[in-house]
Amino acid sequence: MISGRCAACKYLRRRCPSDCIFSPYFPSNNPQRFACVHRIYGASNVGKMLQQVPGQLRAQAADSMHFEAQCRMEDPVYGCVKIINELHRQIHNAETELAKTRAQIAFMISSTNITQQTHHDQLHDDVKFNFNLDNYFLQEQSTNIIDQSSHCPSTQPAPWFVYD
Ligand SMILES: [Zn+2]
Repeated sequence: MISGRCAACKYLRRRCPSDCIFSPYFPSNNPQRFACVHRIYGASNVGKMLQQVPGQLRAQAADSMHFEAQCRMEDPVYGCVKIINELHRQIHNAETELAKTRAQIAFMISSTNITQQTHHDQLHDDVKFNFNLDNYFLQEQSTNIIDQSSHCPSTQPAPWFVYD
């Protein structure tokens, strides 16, 4: 069945067996996909790599090989390493930004707490001061009253007071 061959078997001009390792991952309607991995890795190596990974991971492995091969064709020197480095740089920048923001938040929270505590302390001190001041005046007044009443009682005239 010529029309039933997968992209790999078509490319390699061979019969596609029923248990073809390429068939599920390199369909005949996308010949470029296999041409790309074949050019970078070679058909034999692609087949070996697919056989080495468990069946449930082969689709992912084929996608990865295709992506990496495409990157290598676009950038023969760095391939996908260029993209990985760029992503690492972005992660590093994001982590640095996150650390800065966390430090700013921590600073803002601590300075807000200090301000609130200081404000609270000031209020508390003011209240205490006013209360103490009130007590002082009350004590002073009562002392004066007591002093006045004991030394100079208003009900009795002073010894030097002369009645007409
Ligand atoms: Zn095949």
